[in-house]
Amino acid sequence: METVALLILIIAAVGIALVAVVAGLVATGRRKPKPLPNTHTDVLGTPPADPDAPPVELSSPPATIEPDAEAVPVLERPEGTASRLVRLRQRLAGSQGTLGRGLLALLSRDRLDEDTWESIEDTLLTADIGVAPTQELVGRLRDRLRVEGSGSEARAVLREELLALVDPTMDRRLQVSGADGKPGVVLVVGVNGAGKTTTVGKIARILVAEDRSVVLGAADTFRAAAVEQLATWGERVGVEVVRGPEGTDPASVAFEAVKDGTEREVDTVIVDTAGRLQNKAGLMDELGKVKRVIEKQAPVTEVLLVLDATTGQNGMIQARVFSEVVDVTGIVLTKLDGSAKGGIVVAVQRELGVPVKLVGLGEGADDLAPFDAEAFVDALLG
Ligand code: GDP
Repeated sequence: METVALLILIIAAVGIALVAVVAGLVATGRRKPKPLPNTHTDVLGTPPADPDAPPVELSSPPATIEPDAEAVPVLERPEGTASRLVRLRQRLAGSQGTLGRGLLALLSRDRLDEDTWESIEDTLLTADIGVAPTQELVGRLRDRLRVEGSGSEARAVLREELLALVDPTMDRRLQVSGADGKPGVVLVVGVNGAGKTTTVGKIARILVAEDRSVVLGAADTFRAAAVEQLATWGERVGVEVVRGPEGTDPASVAFEAVKDGTEREVDTVIVDTAGRLQNKAGLMDELGKVKRVIEKQAPVTEVLLVLDATTGQNGMIQARVFSEVVDVTGIVLTKLDGSAKGGIVVAVQRELGVPVKLVGLGEGADDLAPFDAEAFVDALLG
């Protein structure tokens, strides 16, 4: 009898040991929740995680297996205005400084002879300022520097005259707010490749950084890639993107986007459009229809024309065509980082009579800055 009891005891002990071992194996096989990847840009002063900090103790192990961290969307925090401006002003000075330095070197010569004035004219024309503004500027500089002398005066006079050309009195605020409980509606137009979709994404980030709610409309329905690209821009900052199947009528996507934005009471709806320029009549029909159907829901508060600053005269031709088709209210000049031809700011404002409101200064997500006449001229002069 004693032997049987001993045997039962041994079997029980072995059983308990086995259960413990198996439980241990299962526990070590359970995945710990992964820490969320830190994709914040940290420009708003969020302190980065301290790598030397002691690991956080969990008072009790998680009861269930957590879903993969990859499945949880981690929103980026777009760069705030102040840090963006400092960074992009430096970049502007980098790309445009040669123009100003070249002009200053010529104007600071002891003798401003005809050859020098011709070189000044050539420098301005090469920077795409345009023929009429170049002649005007050279005329004004000749008058003033002849009287005031060159040397130390040259810089101050040049700054004043360039500033007058760029026109600091233009209202460059983006109209992103609507009235009567409706969202502001920003329509973004321009030829393919100018940087339209990228600009829509970048503007959304600026608005998100200012705590505004945004909906995007992917009305460039002819290019699946553009729709995908915009969807990615939206996802990164938690902004909804209204889209339709490839080839859907762009106007219907624009309509849905503004309807959605109105129902959800967002601050701003930004609509990307197709930029096919094969003929003016087609473009006019398409953009006209997009605008008309949007305005069944809410007025369009801003029409932004996106122009690639590196395209020179071609860009000016595009500007003319688009301004005949829609009432452009502001210009976005992209790719100013890759070209010393900042003079196009002057040329395009003259041509269309509307201000440059934003400038693109790189391919980075936050490389878009509000255009400021004084900062621009100062960047030119270095
Ligand atoms: P869309 O066809 O007009 O919509 O043009 P995208 O938005 O697709 O842009 C075309 C290309 O221009 C992309 O490779 C962008 O990264 C690039 N791009 C846009 N804006 C800028 C800018 O300000 N600077 C630079 N360097 N590249 C830009």
